[in-house]
Amino acid sequence: MNVLTKTDPEIAKLIQQEDVRQRETLRMIPSENYVSKAVMEATGSSLTNKYSEGYAGKRYYQGQANIDEIEALAISRATSLFGADHANVQPYSGSPANLAMYVALAEVGDTIMGMALDMGGHLTHGWKASQTSKFYNAVQYPVDPKTHLIDFDVVRDLAKKHKPKVIVSGATAYPRFFDYAAFKEIADEVGAVCVADIAHVAGLIAADVHPDPVPHAGVVTTTTHKTLRGPRGGMILCKEEYAKAIDRAVFPFLQGGPHNHTTAGIAVALKEAAAPSFKEYAAQIITNAAVLAEGLMARDWNLISGGTDNHLILVDMQNKNLSGKDAAVALERAGIVVNANSIPYDPAPPFKPSGIRLGTPGLTTRGMKEEQMRILASVMADIVDAPEDEAVIAAGKKVVDELAEAFPIPESFVEEVSQAA
Ligand SMILES: *Cc1c(COP(=O)(O)O)cnc(C)c1O
Repeated sequence: MNVLTKTDPEIAKLIQQEDVRQRETLRMIPSENYVSKAVMEATGSSLTNKYSEGYAGKRYYQGQANIDEIEALAISRATSLFGADHANVQPYSGSPANLAMYVALAEVGDTIMGMALDMGGHLTHGWKASQTSKFYNAVQYPVDPKTHLIDFDVVRDLAKKHKPKVIVSGATAYPRFFDYAAFKEIADEVGAVCVADIAHVAGLIAADVHPDPVPHAGVVTTTTHKTLRGPRGGMILCKEEYAKAIDRAVFPFLQGGPHNHTTAGIAVALKEAAAPSFKEYAAQIITNAAVLAEGLMARDWNLISGGTDNHLILVDMQNKNLSGKDAAVALERAGIVVNANSIPYDPAPPFKPSGIRLGTPGLTTRGMKEEQMRILASVMADIVDAPEDEAVIAAGKKVVDELAEAFPIPESFVEEVSQAA
């Protein structure tokens, strides 16, 4: 960062401090990951200087020879990795991708249906604090109060009663697999479009270690920066019949020029995700989460739904007499970064929820396996049992320092990719 250091030392210093923070702490927020240097180089490139409103071959500005090829590569890699008819790689992120999906499939005022935020769904699935609940008549489905699983009888009853145009599956804090076929069946019964938002689990789906929504859902939306391990961005996959409507919704209805530097980063990440070693990576994410869950439950941690199928764990901290926020703060003091999170039927308010959410995509990118998960489960449980004990925090921090040193953030997955070629 020679030039930046000279031009803007304040920002350069903050970025360097963030590099150090990321290196020295353990990233256990399940929506976060570490991208390769190749993805960083693509996103930090001259492509950020170019305007490209429109789509390949149909642009509104000249000078698109390279951009058209980059976007075409991103699209073909996306459709081939996910087996989709069509891909739009221009959404600026996951939330704009979801808005474009609604714009393509429903009129303002129509009914849409998604999982409530406090049950694990995303803001953009129609939560009251989101504009999606103002543009549309949003019906929200819960999880079962006892099992914390989606109850398809409840979803079906709500769908029959409210006749939504769109039924969205997907979540930010649901630790179990989604039964996309069941969602499709209900959508068909009421004449809704079946939509899957796979923002969290896209990498697991790409690697065939999570059920695949593509055969069932008319439209699939995703971010590119969570388990898929690409740059911050969004993507929409869909069946041919929705392709035109989706493309028009993204541009010109909602967005202007695509972020070409991000498109290139997405293309690189999709190439990395097509390598055989990405399958091993994704399988290890799930194994790690299962081992971590087991270790935490052995220490009397109350896991929502009793465990996990995927990359994330949602914990009810109430039996530990600690708020989710206080638990997250104590863990961060030892270098373990998780987030406080509402749990289903949370008696506490959203800004001081009863739960924490954690996951294994980042640690698995750093190469950690079962043994390190067992170590971390024990460290985390010790800290939560004594959140104000300085000696316990210091002992935890020491273990974290050793792990962070032994498992550096990898710079490159290139070897993996060239092996695949
Ligand atoms: C993260 C997430 C989004 C939103 O993505 P942003 O890039 O933060 O806008 C949408 N849906 C789900 C299910 C998510 O987990």
